[in-house]
Amino acid sequence: MTRPSDLEDRLAAFVDHHLRTGETMPLNTLCEGRTDLVEPLAALVRQYLRVSAALDCDRAAPPPEAAPAPPALDGFRTIERLGGGGAGEVYKLEDLRLGRVVAAKVLRRDRALSAGFEDFLREARALALFKDRRFVQIHEFRPDVDPPVIVMELVEGFELGKLGPSLEFGQRARIVAEVCGALAHAHALGLQHRDLKPSNVMLDAQLEPRLLDFGLSGADSSRGHLRGTLPYVAPEQLDPDRPIDARADVYALGVVFYELLCGVPPFAGHEPGEVVAAIRAGRPRLPVEVDPRVPEPLQAIALKAMERDPVARYQSAREMAEDLQRFLDGRPVLARPTAYAAALGTRVAPHVEQIAEWARLKLIYPYEAARLRGAYRQLDRREDDWIVESRVLSYSQIALYLGAFFLVAGSLFYFAADRVYGAVEGVWRPFLVLGLPFLGLNLVGHFLYRREHQAVAVAFYLAGAGLLPLFLLILFHEAGLWRVDAGTAGQLFLDGSVSNRQLQLTTFAAAVWCGWLALRTRTVALSTVCTFVVLLLALAIAGDLGLRHWIDEDRWDRVALLLAPLVPVYGAAAWRLERGGRAWFSRPLYVGAAVLLVAVVELVALDGRLFGYLGISLRALQASGVSNPSLIDTLTAMTLNGVLFYTVASALERRGSEVMEVASWLLFTITPFAVLEPLGYLGETGEYARGFDWFYLALAVTIAVLSHARQRKAFYYAGLINSAWALWLLADHYQWFDRPAWAITLVAAGLAVLATGFALARRERSAG
Ligand code: ADP
Ligand code: MG
Repeated sequence: MTRPSDLEDRLAAFVDHHLRTGETMPLNTLCEGRTDLVEPLAALVRQYLRVSAALDCDRAAPPPEAAPAPPALDGFRTIERLGGGGAGEVYKLEDLRLGRVVAAKVLRRDRALSAGFEDFLREARALALFKDRRFVQIHEFRPDVDPPVIVMELVEGFELGKLGPSLEFGQRARIVAEVCGALAHAHALGLQHRDLKPSNVMLDAQLEPRLLDFGLSGADSSRGHLRGTLPYVAPEQLDPDRPIDARADVYALGVVFYELLCGVPPFAGHEPGEVVAAIRAGRPRLPVEVDPRVPEPLQAIALKAMERDPVARYQSAREMAEDLQRFLDGRPVLARPTAYAAALGTRVAPHVEQIAEWARLKLIYPYEAARLRGAYRQLDRREDDWIVESRVLSYSQIALYLGAFFLVAGSLFYFAADRVYGAVEGVWRPFLVLGLPFLGLNLVGHFLYRREHQAVAVAFYLAGAGLLPLFLLILFHEAGLWRVDAGTAGQLFLDGSVSNRQLQLTTFAAAVWCGWLALRTRTVALSTVCTFVVLLLALAIAGDLGLRHWIDEDRWDRVALLLAPLVPVYGAAAWRLERGGRAWFSRPLYVGAAVLLVAVVELVALDGRLFGYLGISLRALQASGVSNPSLIDTLTAMTLNGVLFYTVASALERRGSEVMEVASWLLFTITPFAVLEPLGYLGETGEYARGFDWFYLALAVTIAVLSHARQRKAFYYAGLINSAWALWLLADHYQWFDRPAWAITLVAAGLAVLATGFALARRERSAG
């Protein structure tokens, strides 16, 4: 195994020798005993020598032929050429009068750039704006000479691109953080650089970065398109219809940082068109793929800064600087680039294809394929890493949610103290004990959320959401709002402690509040609470329609019919939210719809109501002497419900979306229980006991066996559980418990089934 340090140590020895003696050490001596290292080391050495040569010859490079002559300024002597770019050539001059050395940028006339002088003037003005060490200071602008010249402070050092790769990662982060600070300053003055690249950042002798070249700078969001330097141009600069703002500079700096981290630009190509296409596609390789030593947090920062969509980037250079500072302080950074999800997505896709292939070749069972696909989908669906993070149990998470739990428990006790003992009086106490904490929790949550501590913020929001309903109920009660007298007809609570209206308002407020929070934070915890609170709201509204009366009278079918509209409402809301890309909200709603569907149809089945509504009855089939006249109707309806669940679940499985899968799974699990429930019920009540006991057992065993057909484990377990229950009923009814024959029969039956299993296993093996 080649450890990175094996190579690094040898490279260090090479560099050390080279710096001391100016000679290159033979690689074979350096890699004695490790011939496998020669090749990778040679690559690193080549890179080093390139950088070192660039540093050495930078000053000595002769001016290219087309370059303008050195500036002929009175009182200045040209010492050497420093460099040049698209707009000008820069020379080192001696100011003979002041006795100092300066840099002078001469406007290039050889390029047919119509905007040349304008840019030059803008650059001079921009530099004059800054009184900050992080920018090169301008001494003088001379438009009168031909070509015009900007005389400025000389930075003795190197361009960032040339020195950067030899620095430690921490140094690179610090330097980029300072460039961020400089940019933030320029942005605050209303100026965007728009041509950030490694050659426009100089490092001085103290390795402090200095920003250069404001030739393309501006503030106009409708100008500056298709200018700048590839590949540092932001995607919105490639599209004249899109506005440009300070975030284009954040993008360019992200690209600079990317290159600084791993040594290669994120987007490359043989011709500009290819680079432009790559920028538009915005799918850079991960820096760690290029150089495994790149620290992940720095990679995340670079990728977040260069997000294709400006909204996903750091919204300001200041924000980016703060994240870099977090890394430098040894704290976790906040950046979660979408590139991670995309990178995962492209890697997951071939695996999912593989699974289909394995299933086709019968290498795996269909249910295994489904499970694997589910696991991959979960990886792929990962909307935000921080949500996943909030599901990881850490001590902070445990403490936070425990805290939220204590708060809600405390408020419940407080509520009980008021209701049961009347210990709370007046409006102020509940306001102080529950209202202020509610406000405080939400303010803290809001603050934390804005600071990108989302996982923590959600715990605060949850605690707040728990306090809200109790606070409102006590407040309404104490303030006498919407109060009713004890014994008022049509109220859910006859003792007058809580009125229907109070309940409705409370649950409505809580539902709106939780819904808003869920949409904002994109968390399942809050959307689940919201789903539940909406159900409570429906029940509170049902209070006005006579819910209390129906419960007292055992009219469960009425209750069910009242809840029934919630099934399509939940389903439709879930569907819409799923379409809108809010799967985390639609999942609990689908589950809610499934649970309500089960509750509604099961409640309607009670007392034979369902058959009553349909205007038919199976009563004639009922033997005389059975006390409950609608027994057969009830039991048949319950069995039919099981069939209904199965049908709905299969439809969801086949035609439904991924998010509906949970609901489908839930219904499948309930199906066998629903089918067997009436038989169990019969056996228990003792009516028709003997015959149905056996039927129950037979059906339970059948369901266990049938589970094979579609590989449904839920059916198998349901079959087993119900078989056990049937056996118990049989033993009870025949009073077999005190007869050893019963036990012996069971043991014998068990042995017989085991023997069958053995025989089957042998057959399967020889067949396979
Ligand atoms: P262009 O607009 O043509 O790109 P720049 O202002 O970026 O011109 O300058 C070109 C190069 O000259 C820089 O990349 C840098 O190497 C060198 N340079 C520019 N200004 C200075 C300075 N004040 N001190 C030292 N070197 C400089
Ligand atoms: Mg330049």
